[in-house]
Amino acid sequence: MKAVVMAERGGPEVLRPAELPTPEPGPCEVRVRVRAVALNHLDVWVRKGVASPRLPLPHVLGSDVSGVVDAVGPGVEPELVGREVVLNPGLSCGHCEACLSGRDNLCSQYKILGEHVWGGYAEYLTVPRANLLPKPANLTFEEAAAVPLVFLTAWQMVADKLQVRPGEWLLVMAAGSGVGSAALQIGKLFGARVLAAAGSEEKLARARELGADATVNYREPGWHRKVREITGGGAQAVADHTGADYWQDVIKATANGGRIAIVGASSGYEAVTPLAHVFYRQIAVLGSTMGSKSRLFEVLRHVEAGRLAPVVGRVLSLEEAARGHELLEERAVFGKAVLRVAS
Ligand code: ZN
Repeated sequence: MKAVVMAERGGPEVLRPAELPTPEPGPCEVRVRVRAVALNHLDVWVRKGVASPRLPLPHVLGSDVSGVVDAVGPGVEPELVGREVVLNPGLSCGHCEACLSGRDNLCSQYKILGEHVWGGYAEYLTVPRANLLPKPANLTFEEAAAVPLVFLTAWQMVADKLQVRPGEWLLVMAAGSGVGSAALQIGKLFGARVLAAAGSEEKLARARELGADATVNYREPGWHRKVREITGGGAQAVADHTGADYWQDVIKATANGGRIAIVGASSGYEAVTPLAHVFYRQIAVLGSTMGSKSRLFEVLRHVEAGRLAPVVGRVLSLEEAARGHELLEERAVFGKAVLRVAS
């Protein structure tokens, strides 16, 4: 089969087209013919060796996959062959206390498709049967591939951790990113007023089209004061993954008693926290990674009903994976970049 393989760690140029053996599904697994695979910043971190630095090479990236079930392994119902599916990117043991209580993303064996095991930058991949969900009929394969990782991440952040309520102000940092554009929509779904922060006027205009009630450009110094002005004292809830460069201003933009959920740290992991703000103004800082596999069922129901929609900013071919990574690193795409895999 055709694939794009990462044979070493480094720049986008380490992603090269290659021929690999087509995988065979094992017990309780299916083989999926990939139709589209969405790119995530996670792919860039893995490629650079920042995430999973000891991962054996060569490796095949790709966490977000849509496609068609092509073959089933022992113990899987054969009528699944031909089914159009999206894949849940979380892999876990399935039998520990965390897994059985629906918190599989806290399983000690938790893995992410495309990070810890070979993913979807290929014509085929095998996954556990438990990771299949039906592709919403109203989406193209490219749109469907743009849903799982960012909506799962944004759902846990906004619905489960921040628990936003109607009328609250939700500040969404990097609203032009995949996870930001999902968090913005989920905030609106729960009745919050959304203040979208991004780094260009073009991205802010797109955020308003997606439903943002107000916008602020966080490249302008003192942007947190503008947030406090618009919200009347700071945002009650903040969805953030912008990292060290923005952290102190994110805290200043948060209301007394507010909560901040962080799902990443794009500009750097080592940040200085003004602790007086955290304790005196009683701010809660909530870490969040991915989401329970169960949440994707709920997300896809909202997608099917048109209440949530993936934002696809760019479609490229599988062979253009390296170009896709460049676009991601240049922050040149609003929403998701997706690779189409020829059928
Ligand atoms: Zn487990």
